[in-house]
Order: sequence, then C-alpha cells, then structure tokens
Amino acid sequence: MITKLQLKAPPITKIEEWPGVLILRGDLIHPIVSGNKAFKLLSLVNTIQQNNIQTLVSVGGRYSNHLHALAWFGRELGVATVGYVRGFAEQSLTSTLQDCLTWGMSLHFVSHKDYQRRYENEFWQPKLEKENRPLRINEGAWSKDAIAGSERWAKFLPDDTEVVVCPVGSGTTLAGIVNATAPEVRVIGVPVYADPSGYKDLRERLFETGLSPERYELWMDAHCGGFGKVTSELQQFASRFLARTGIELDRIYTLKTFCALQNKLRSNPEFGKQKIVVLHTGGQQGNRP
Ligand SMILES: *Cc1c(COP(=O)(O)O)cnc(C)c1O
Repeated sequence: MITKLQLKAPPITKIEEWPGVLILRGDLIHPIVSGNKAFKLLSLVNTIQQNNIQTLVSVGGRYSNHLHALAWFGRELGVATVGYVRGFAEQSLTSTLQDCLTWGMSLHFVSHKDYQRRYENEFWQPKLEKENRPLRINEGAWSKDAIAGSERWAKFLPDDTEVVVCPVGSGTTLAGIVNATAPEVRVIGVPVYADPSGYKDLRERLFETGLSPERYELWMDAHCGGFGKVTSELQQFASRFLARTGIELDRIYTLKTFCALQNKLRSNPEFGKQKIVVLHTGGQQGNRP
C-alpha cells in the first residue's frame, strides 16, 4: 500500500472507577486522524489506485471528523478532496473546516434542506460530473470497503473479550466489529442520534450488508435528545471523566457512549462482571470552536 498514513496500534487504558472495563484507544493511533476514520479511509487506498481516482468527494457537518480526516488523507495520498458542508458560507469557519482548507480541500456549502438528499444519486450526480476522476464517499464513509477496514479494530481486542461497546453514527464501525469477532462476543452499539422508529433504517442497512440482527444490540436511549445535543449531565460527565482519567472525550460520539456505559455499570452490577472493551473512536478535534 502506498500511503504515508502510518498508524500505531491502539493502546489499552484501564481506569480505576471501571474495574472490568478496558478502553481501546483509537484516539491515539495517529496524531491527526482518529482511529475510526483512519481505518475506514485506509481501506479505500486500493480502490483509489486501481481506478486511478484523482478526486475524493464527500459530505459532512461543520465539525465533521470525516471531512477532517479525508482532507488530511487526500493530501497524504496526493489526491484532490472536495467537501460539501451542511451550513452557510456566511457562518464563521470552524477549526475543523479551517484545517480542511489548509490541507487543500475545496469546500462548498449546502443548505440543510439539500443536505437531506445526500443519500440520493441526484444529489451526487452534478457534483461528481464537475470533477476529474472522482470517487463518491458517503457520509461517515459508509461503504463495503469501510466496513472491511473497520474490522481492524477487532485485531486489538484481547482474546477473552466478552462485550464490545462502540458509538454508532453510520454503523460502519459496529458492522466491522461484528464481522470480525466470534459469535459469542456481545457487540453493543450506542447510536448518538435520535430515531423514533427504533433505528429501523440503521438496522436495515446493517442487515443488507449481511449482518445478523442477533449479533448486535443497540442502546437506544443514550442519544440525549439527538445528534450534537449535549445535556448538562453529559457536560458534567465529560469534565469529571477528564479530570479523573486524563482522557478527553469528543462531545458527539465517545461522550454519549462512555456516559451510557457508566449508567449501565451503575444500574446493573452484573453487567460489569463481564470482560468489557469500549472503543475510544477519537474525534476530539471536533471539540474545538
Ligand atoms: C464517525 C465517528 C463515529 C461513528 O462511527 P460509524 O462507523 O460511522 O458508526 C464514532 N466516533 C467518532 C469519533 C467518529 O468520528
């Protein structure tokens, strides 16, 4: 593989307050690109090279870890990147988007209404037509390649792992872990956005990739009001967790996941007797203004 994206193995951290729990530190595998997105993007290298792709085109929010990682990755690979951002050009640039520009990504803004069409081919067609040998990369990098890339997480799980807990955005990471672990390992996903239909779309998407519904569970009440919503309980949890463990959580994904895990450990002591690994998927860059 021709890429300069050199990843370290994620170390494991134990913390005093959670005796049976290991934290797999995907946030420490690369100085810029956090675990989750690095594993997904690396899986694209072959596709890019085999098809002589010159431009990576994708979508995301103003704090998107995905666009941030993609901009860096494109620069390292010598491939152009284009980001369609949910928002307005008049809004001040976030640190995330400033980095994207610095690394050479072209940014375009899309209204909230248009952004809702990001799963439709008609949304992508005109954007791809403008580019030289483009590759469409879905939100959160959801694709078969990215799921295969996310299977890498499993290599770093201790052999006696009984439960894996991870955040869920697109579900790519969850799918990778399910694919790469033995059937007796319990895989728990924590969706960080609300879905009144009980995550029907997510479940269907996972099913279509061949995932058996029996292989994973979702903690459906950990979204705290919806994507990007940070309650005062979460805020308190984040600052206490940082003070006690020295581990910074990103406010979108790992914060909700770790807080839900703590609530579960408290409400159900039996749960904590299992050998649990929780993934720190990184993303702290998005905490900047
Ligand atoms: C994107 C992201 C996730 C969500 O992962 P999916 O594979 O899309 O479910 C989790 N954590 C962080 C830090 C992320 O950036």
